[in-house]
Amino acid sequence: MKEIYLDNNATTRVDEAVFEEMRPYFTELYGNPSSMHFFGGQVQKKVDEARAQVAALLGAQPEEIVFTACGTESDNTAIRSALEAFPTRRHVITSRVEHPAVLTLCRNLTKHGVRVTELNVDSAGRLDLDELKRAIDDDTAIVSIMHANNETGVVFPIEEIAGIVKERGVLFHTDAVQSVGKIPLNLAKSRIDMLSLSGHKLHAPKGIGALYLRKGTPFRPFLVGGHQEKNRRAGTEATSSIIALGKACQVAGEFLHDENTRVKGLCDRLERELMAIIPAARINGGGAERLPNTVSIAFEFVEGEAILLLLSEKGICASSGSACTSGSQEPSHVLRAMGVPFTCAHGSIRFSLSRFTTDAEIDAVIRELPPIIQRLREISPFGRELLKK
Ligand SMILES: *Cc1c(COP(=O)(O)O)cnc(C)c1O
Repeated sequence: MKEIYLDNNATTRVDEAVFEEMRPYFTELYGNPSSMHFFGGQVQKKVDEARAQVAALLGAQPEEIVFTACGTESDNTAIRSALEAFPTRRHVITSRVEHPAVLTLCRNLTKHGVRVTELNVDSAGRLDLDELKRAIDDDTAIVSIMHANNETGVVFPIEEIAGIVKERGVLFHTDAVQSVGKIPLNLAKSRIDMLSLSGHKLHAPKGIGALYLRKGTPFRPFLVGGHQEKNRRAGTEATSSIIALGKACQVAGEFLHDENTRVKGLCDRLERELMAIIPAARINGGGAERLPNTVSIAFEFVEGEAILLLLSEKGICASSGSACTSGSQEPSHVLRAMGVPFTCAHGSIRFSLSRFTTDAEIDAVIRELPPIIQRLREISPFGRELLKK
């Protein structure tokens, strides 16, 4: 069975062109870029090229890009760095809807004397910027707020947030793992100090990420050892993966328009048609600005896990929210923070598209999903009540 893959916020397929670009760096051009000889030197050149490609997609300078092992490492590095660079400041501000890469770190830090403020969101998933203004004080080391939410696709007004934070002289980091390659960024014209991205969310392999570090930003490395990455991240460079990330960023730049027109069109059609056919459904984050590729829909009185299994039998891959919380019975922390009622949060399904998604695949979901929801409601007591209405 050929998969219909609509779980691109969990991970993406490596682009063929990206794979071809990295391939020679395993068995032929396997030199260490730090070596003095020509064989390492030619890899170093290619790593520099990749750094420039990542920078170009972000509107940053190449020296401002530090390669890491993943989005999680970039997030951890940014927050820990701020706390080390400002040892007298023991307060971190984040939001309740962050990825666990930020939220779990922050919650662990509270056991080490760090005060953490988790900003609330409203029922559409939007932040209250006045709450942010009130939360910043002289003790605040860093504010870390994601650009786009992985579960709902809700986009935060990151430049406005950066403005508020910088006015108070505090560092600002954003987890942009879900937005890079989907919405344009121009860090040259921005007040963001640090930004995280991850390769496997934009058609590069798993296990490579980057941290944008604005020139002049106080910084303390997370991994120490050798002098790689200008002493900002020790460890021999993952050359093939770095080269892949560079290529993926170049291609993502070329597809930004497609993402915001064709992919967005597919996503809008999926949302519109499902909402028209299926009763008692609602869009999570429906009232907010959202990513062009993500739609999260809550179906009342059905279990998300059951929907996913039945979709999977038809070859359709979706998600119940975040890959990290599915499998547990708890509804997602993001939907809970938005106050989505329990009966809806349990029946929430996320579809996340990519540039490889076709019209025919969207047709298949629109054909297969409504009868699945109908069947599941018929076997649930509350669902039957609903169907009678
Ligand atoms: C996937 C994801 C991460 C983690 O990235 P990894 O490379 O898998 O560690 C962090 N933040 C967001 C918003 C994500 O979607």
